[in-house]
Amino acid sequence: MAKSMFEKIWDDHVVVERDDGQTLLYVDRHLCHDGSFQGYYTLNSQGRTLRRPDLTWGSPDHYRPTDAQSLNDISDPALREKVALFDKNAAESGIHYYGLDSEKMGVVHVIGPELGITLPGIMLVCGDSHTATHGALGAFAFGIGASEVAHVMATQTLWQKKPKSMRITVNGEVGFGVTGKDVILAIIAKISAAGAAGHVVEFAGSGITALSMEERMTVCNMTIEAGGRAGMIAPDEKTYAYCKGREFAPAGEKWDRAIEYWKTLPSDPGAVFDKEVTLNGADIAPMVTWGNSPENGLPVTGAVPDPANEPDPEKREAIQGALEYMGISAGMQISDIAVDQVYIGSCTNGRIEDLRAAAAVAKGRKAVVAARVVPGSEPVRRQAVEEGLDKIFLEAGFEWRLPGCASCLCLNDEIFAPGTRTASTSNRNFMGRQGERVRTHLVSPAMAAAAAITGHFSDVRDLAEDK
Ligand code: SF4
Repeated sequence: MAKSMFEKIWDDHVVVERDDGQTLLYVDRHLCHDGSFQGYYTLNSQGRTLRRPDLTWGSPDHYRPTDAQSLNDISDPALREKVALFDKNAAESGIHYYGLDSEKMGVVHVIGPELGITLPGIMLVCGDSHTATHGALGAFAFGIGASEVAHVMATQTLWQKKPKSMRITVNGEVGFGVTGKDVILAIIAKISAAGAAGHVVEFAGSGITALSMEERMTVCNMTIEAGGRAGMIAPDEKTYAYCKGREFAPAGEKWDRAIEYWKTLPSDPGAVFDKEVTLNGADIAPMVTWGNSPENGLPVTGAVPDPANEPDPEKREAIQGALEYMGISAGMQISDIAVDQVYIGSCTNGRIEDLRAAAAVAKGRKAVVAARVVPGSEPVRRQAVEEGLDKIFLEAGFEWRLPGCASCLCLNDEIFAPGTRTASTSNRNFMGRQGERVRTHLVSPAMAAAAAITGHFSDVRDLAEDK
């Protein structure tokens, strides 16, 4: 019977199935971060040890203030304690650990692919919902809760009910100035924030395969914002080239065997999905979200919706509420929305290509609002410095920080002032996500840089032509 890629990977990881529909799955690789302390607490309080520290990797990302070089530089005692606790737990449990002083540290969803921890065909989990990112390499990867983290730590397995499957096909390549971020925002705008609920999503079609590996990561990263359990893209030559030579990727004869297996992973012709959605790549423009849900994406050339035009009373009320929170009015042009600040970073858009795209816009120009650039990892930061991107940002008046989650979640001092408006390359625009009454608009890195330069949302395609 024809199988989807998800079904193949699922079947390869089944340890045992229960009559109630729960399946015990083998976990190939587990990522931890400084928010994984509850898992460690459970494990320690039960007197258990980590079953496979050699298959567990970690780095402090959520709580690390991105101006702190070391533990001693963290002035907030609560944040320092969180990072110090992870240092201690990691040392005692013997996992692969990249602390603040490591040249490999970073946001776990950035360092996973970067170090070759993420590979096609594996099952990878992490106590963070944006674990879906890793599906870009053809892995089955998803976020788990604190008790599940403890279960994986103790057993290297996880009980799961098999999700449904969905395929989202983007036919045809996207146009100039349109990125993976715009593709996923357009997808969520089409299917809604619940459109993939309970499903593992396979992204397919020439519009997806044409994307770079890093853009594919951005697409899969935000699957969760459409309610998806996981997102994945079939491995291809681009994937193999990306994985080759990375520290934890197979080498030598194991590499040849891995390639042989990876080639069996793409969905079989005739594989059936529970749900299918199709988009045309050429129809996608640079996107901006106007409301408090990632589904509120619009082309930058569009106008804010009018609740009066919405026949569904519940949706009408939601639009009205979002307009009030966001401080914008119905019918307003997206390009007329002025921003107070810009944030470029996160596991969605903190990779080297993202910084290159933002720097290409910033180069030779000056930011008119506060703008912060946060690399996703130390390797990304070093690469950016090597290419002179840090200088471009600094000369354009942008702030250049150390790697971490930073203003994506604002668990540290990178929170924004109450009531201000941010153009952000992160993944969530929920009320209060970036600070009290802060209004977050999701955009691509190039669009964020364009907003920093002009002070309002601007079509990056026009800016590129101006140069
Ligand atoms: S960058 Fe944001 S979404 Fe990504 S892991 Fe950190 S807090 Fe979570």
